[in-house]
Amino acid sequence: MAKHQFQTEIGQLLKLMTHSLYSNKEIFIRELISNSSDALDKFNYLRLTEDQFRGEDWSGKISIGLDEEDGSLTIGDNGIGMSEEDLMSHLGTIAKSGTKSFVENLTGDAKKDSHLIGQFGVGFYSVFMVADRVDVITKKAGEDQAYMFSTEGTGEYEVKPVTKDEHGTVIYIKLKEDEKEFISKWRTQEIVKKYSNHIAYPIVLNYKEDETTGEGDDAVTQKVKKSEQVNAATALWTLPKSELSKEEYIEFYKSIAHGDDEPLKYLHNKVEGSQEFTTLFYIPKTAPMDMYRADYQPGIKLYVKRVFITDDDKELLPSYLRFVKGVIDSEDLPLNISREILQENKILANIKQNSVKKILTAVKKLDGEDAEIFTKQYNKVVKEGIYTDHTNKETLLEIVRYKSSNEDGLISLDDYVSRGDSEKKEIYYIIGENENSLRNSPLLEAYKKANIEVLIMDDKEIDEIVTPMIGSYKEWSLKDITAIDAPDSKSEEEKEEISKEFKSLTDKIKEVLGEEVKEVKTSTRLTSSPSCVLKDSSDPMAGMAQMFAQMGQEMPEVPLILEINPEHDMIKKLDALSDKSLFEDISWILLDSAKLSEGLEPKDKVSFANRVANIASKAL
Ligand code: ADP
Ligand code: MG
Repeated sequence: MAKHQFQTEIGQLLKLMTHSLYSNKEIFIRELISNSSDALDKFNYLRLTEDQFRGEDWSGKISIGLDEEDGSLTIGDNGIGMSEEDLMSHLGTIAKSGTKSFVENLTGDAKKDSHLIGQFGVGFYSVFMVADRVDVITKKAGEDQAYMFSTEGTGEYEVKPVTKDEHGTVIYIKLKEDEKEFISKWRTQEIVKKYSNHIAYPIVLNYKEDETTGEGDDAVTQKVKKSEQVNAATALWTLPKSELSKEEYIEFYKSIAHGDDEPLKYLHNKVEGSQEFTTLFYIPKTAPMDMYRADYQPGIKLYVKRVFITDDDKELLPSYLRFVKGVIDSEDLPLNISREILQENKILANIKQNSVKKILTAVKKLDGEDAEIFTKQYNKVVKEGIYTDHTNKETLLEIVRYKSSNEDGLISLDDYVSRGDSEKKEIYYIIGENENSLRNSPLLEAYKKANIEVLIMDDKEIDEIVTPMIGSYKEWSLKDITAIDAPDSKSEEEKEEISKEFKSLTDKIKEVLGEEVKEVKTSTRLTSSPSCVLKDSSDPMAGMAQMFAQMGQEMPEVPLILEINPEHDMIKKLDALSDKSLFEDISWILLDSAKLSEGLEPKDKVSFANRVANIASKAL
């Protein structure tokens, strides 16, 4: 008999499960049934693909046993089972990325954390909400030796060899003193119906009931063993829409997505014709916690003629739709298709294309609060889609939302276009890290003055890569305001005039700043600020920076252009200033404060502070 320590994270998780007050304990039944159903699916697949198991007379079944005298509950299946190694790696360590990120998100605040469980479900370990001890007795299909994994939900577990005839798993749960309600036939039946009605295998409840025989004085009451199937055992997606209620769709969602909240949207489609397939997709109300992890768990299960094939294929939908949960069931794929060659399969490619269209159409139709929720949760991945899915780029551009200089909320490109200049057909935008500094950027001044709307893009990392490649939307071209001339009423001659008038000043400032700026020139884009900086878009480095960002590397520095506001009082006075060291200080301040407004850092913070102090003391 070997004792093992649980991986630290599991220890944490178990503590949370056993000690925090959690209101929705019943979900442990859903989680164990879901694991059994997965195990049955896996064996069913083996039976169809591996010679060793082909033709075995088998029908998958989940059994729940209620034992009042013992105070225990068992949940068993004749699925694929686990080897000794499987037990240790699947139950002794956290293998699943969802669980990993769940644990990373734990705050230590029991109330918040138990809400996280509610939101995400954490599989097997949820049993410790109700169990004093758990034994997992299991035998892997094709192996001779069975094993038992036992734990009291503390830091350690034991694994030892046992005997068991059939392959599959039985989970024995010794209930805590105050959790005996789960032995009640009615209670358990209700839970199974609620969460697992459409698990595709029969779930049979085994229990004992008092039965009286004889009458009057001869009456004898005995406990009699009974057995009853409690679920419908039809895969939900195979039923016609007209036979399904909203509640049934939602409960099925909870059983496959392990969530406690309702989905934002579900869509169920049966496609018939040259190809036949059924899809049932759900858009969750909150983005999966592992959405931004490279090892995210895909949300789609692939079935062929109701036989489970895989739930671990990231290619069933494009990766930007990785938040979608659900089922694809094809009538045309061969049952013994190897998971490796799925990618090249034309039938699947067609299903995928059709699915993306359906999902995006549904998203486009969301309105009101639902549309807001969608944007809040998924706007960033929509931007990923714009970049990666050329076929559906237009639709995604209709879905994406941006902040705007005109209002506080988020707007669509259609909103922008409907009120923009329909002759010029230009959509202006500015990208940066911080919404507030973007809104207050000196570069926006001229647009505000001319009453031109500018999109405020503050998902810098994504926007910087995605936006330039959008090019245009419905014939409107997107323009980065830091790379173009500002709107103004001055003619080229007037500009020339001003530039000449201030030539000696701009030359002097350039002399002070040296290589720190590429050029100093008079600006037409400023009203209240004395200066601003722009990235030199004509510099080859600007294009390079783009490429570096796409490769996920640090961006090389693009040379800056300093523009000064000839109308500003300070600039006019600066031209006449004779104090040489003050002139230098002010020149640097013009650059550094303009950089700060764009979220850039002054080259030398100490000098910056010293210069501000110098100027202040001279002013006093
Ligand atoms: P998940 O089901 O999301 O992978 P769980 O915590 O529910 O996470 O289960 C962990 C793993 O333990 C499963 O992935 C599976 O490999 C294994 N497992 C759990 N229950 C069973 C079972 N009844 N039969 C076979 N394997 C099981
Ligand atoms: Mg599970």
